[in-house]
Amino acid sequence: QEQKPRINLVVIGHVDAGKSTLMGRLLYDLGKIDEKTRLNTVRASEKSGKGSFSWAWELDGTVEERQRGITMDIALQDLSTTHRNITILDAPGHRDFIPNMISGAFQADCALLVVDSSTGEFEAGFDKGGQTKEHLLLVRSLGVSQVIVAVNKLDLVDWKVDRYEKIVSDLRGFLTQAGFPSSRTNFVPVSAIGGTNLIATSNNPLSLRDWYNGPSLIDLLDQLETPPRSLELPLRIPISNVFKGQMGSASGLAVTGRVCSGIVQVGERLRILPGNETTTVRSIEQEGSVLCLPSELVPLASKFSAQVIIFDISLPITPGAPVEMFYHSRDVPATITRLLATLDRGSSTIVKNNPRVLLKHTSAKVEIAIRNTLGSSGFSIPVEPFRVNKELGRLVLRRGGETIAAGMILLA
Ligand code: GDP
Repeated sequence: QEQKPRINLVVIGHVDAGKSTLMGRLLYDLGKIDEKTRLNTVRASEKSGKGSFSWAWELDGTVEERQRGITMDIALQDLSTTHRNITILDAPGHRDFIPNMISGAFQADCALLVVDSSTGEFEAGFDKGGQTKEHLLLVRSLGVSQVIVAVNKLDLVDWKVDRYEKIVSDLRGFLTQAGFPSSRTNFVPVSAIGGTNLIATSNNPLSLRDWYNGPSLIDLLDQLETPPRSLELPLRIPISNVFKGQMGSASGLAVTGRVCSGIVQVGERLRILPGNETTTVRSIEQEGSVLCLPSELVPLASKFSAQVIIFDISLPITPGAPVEMFYHSRDVPATITRLLATLDRGSSTIVKNNPRVLLKHTSAKVEIAIRNTLGSSGFSIPVEPFRVNKELGRLVLRRGGETIAAGMILLA
């Protein structure tokens, strides 16, 4: 039997844009949620006075999330289109939860951006303070270049073509500027709540059919390009989760993580880095971070140089700045120890050596040192330069709850 290519999709967008509603509705219309579950969710959401969130609740697992109405963790869901198997990494939109979105984005091959087209709401999400641009810049700097934009809630603006086109044109400008190739960017008008233009187009209202006869959302998902997989590179599995308990007939520890390069086979001996453990699954829970073959270890580093793009920060970055560094599925405290150079954003050539500060929207080469949790230095983590392994070589820096930079590790 022919296997469909698998694609990891991260869902991004401003809070309340309708991300969870869209995914809930899509999964239901694809028959992934049974009627009974759906009925129970509708009843529970109405009972707590949150009826409009009933679709979102299909995705939002925990009680806490439901009460807050925010998708706090990344809910893994699979959906199958005619030619693709798609894993949805549901990303939350609330500002405090960007760290969760980052770990979703690290695993993504492409992004689904949801925007709220209703009056004033698109603008609120797109302008300063909104998360639309921040999310796009973030996924782009993590190597995602394919994006589908679902222009949502068009039912609230009577499916007006002018509104749709204005949003498409504003976004196009920004996407080009942020480095998304226009050939890999698609837009689709939808209403998540009404299930309009998500799958079949036959029920689309006349006011939409008047001006749109393009693909539905699922058609666009079905055409996503599959990323090249790095089978020939050494095995690397950044670990994202560890579970205790029963696995099939055996009991013990289960480890989750994405094979970002190489091949893993049953019976193979693996090393867990950092540390000296080989194959003893029990040790992962304590300090493991990456699984690899004993003969092809990931380099460990406590200090390395990186090329980063500085986001729309409120305060400039100075040497010694403490940051939180996100890399593959983890985060550690770190310090930007030296500002090595500012770079031209396009060509990456040096503009100025040893700058005193880094301002917003610049590109720069910096030195980063990892601090251990007690604050002293000398704590190393497994990292690889971006040119050797794209996924292990990406990083995101945050400070005080704000994403300040993202980029690539140059030399470990
Ligand atoms: P998220 O924060 O992006 O996940 O947004 P939610 O999915 O929680 O949706 C936020 C609110 O927008 C909820 O009250 C939804 O019912 C509403 N909503 C989502 N999609 C649509 C839509 O297509 N049309 C209308 N009218 N409301 C929508």
